[in-house]
Amino acid sequence: MKTMKKPLYPILKATRAAVGFTRLPRLLALWLGRKKVSILNYHDPEPQLFAKQMAWLHRRYQPISQSELLEAIMTKSDSQLPAYPLLITIDDGWRGNVALCPIIEKYRIPVTIYLSSGIVGTHRKFWWLPVYEAGGNPQMLKPLPHAEFLDTLKKQYDYEPERDYPERCALSWEELEDLKRTDLVTFGSHGRYHFILPQCPEDVAWDEISASKKELEEQLDLPIIHFSFPNGEYSLRDQKLLRTAGYQTGRTTQLGFNNVVEGVDPYAIKTLLAADNNSLPVLSFGMGGLDVLREMIL
Ligand SMILES: [Zn+2]
Repeated sequence: MKTMKKPLYPILKATRAAVGFTRLPRLLALWLGRKKVSILNYHDPEPQLFAKQMAWLHRRYQPISQSELLEAIMTKSDSQLPAYPLLITIDDGWRGNVALCPIIEKYRIPVTIYLSSGIVGTHRKFWWLPVYEAGGNPQMLKPLPHAEFLDTLKKQYDYEPERDYPERCALSWEELEDLKRTDLVTFGSHGRYHFILPQCPEDVAWDEISASKKELEEQLDLPIIHFSFPNGEYSLRDQKLLRTAGYQTGRTTQLGFNNVVEGVDPYAIKTLLAADNNSLPVLSFGMGGLDVLREMIL
C-alpha cells in the first residue's frame, strides 16, 4: 500500500468531501460502475454511520453475494449481474461487528466477513493494538522480516500472538453464530494472526493461509473458500498458496472496479474504498472511482 505524504492529508480530506458533495462522483459511478462489481472494505464501523451508508448505498446499488461475484468471475459474464453490483466486505472480525446484524437484516445486504482465525473466539489481540497503545507506529513494523517483526513486538511492546488479554477485541464464537443466523453473511479467512504474508517465510505463510481455513471450517461448520490478504499485501507465492489450500478468491486492497468481462484475477480482487469513518460525500467520492484516480496521480 502506498503511504501518502502527511501534508497532503488535510487538503485531500477537504477535497474529497467537497467534490463528494457535487454530482460529479455520482455521474462517474453511473458511467464507470455499470455492470462492474464495486467492493467496499470495512473493519469496525460504528453502527449508526454504517446504517446511514447502507441506506445510501441501498438506493443506488444492488448488493450481491460473494458467490455471485465468483460465478461472474468464473464465467467472465456480467449477464447475471445487476446493473450496479455492490459487494460489502468486512475485515478482521472485530467484536463490534455483531451490532451490524440488524442493519444488514433490515436492508437484506449480503456481507462477507473475513476472520483472523487465531484471534476470533479468544481474548487475544491484533498485533497493532499494543503498538498503538504504547504510542508506536504499526507502519514501521510492517516492512520487517517476520522473525524481526515478532521479536520487535515482543521486546518493545510485550506482545505475543497467543497471549490472552483481559479485554476481548474480536468476535466470540457465539457472536459469530448470531451473524451466521442472518443467512446474509459469508465467512472468509483473513489469516490466523494477521501477519503480513510477503514478509513471512513460506511455512508461516502456509500456516496463516491453510490452518486458518481449517480452524474456521471446524468452528463454523461451513466451507471457507474466500480470503482477504492482511493489510492487503500479497506476493505471487501467497496467491499460489491460496490456490493450493483450496481458496477460490483473494481480496486485496488495491483500488479499482472489478470488470468481469475484461477478466478479474480471482486471487487479486479489487476494492474501491476503506469506508469505516467516511461521511456520505466521501463515500460518494470513492464509489465514483475518484480514489482510484487519486492514487494514480499522487
Ligand atoms: Zn485486516
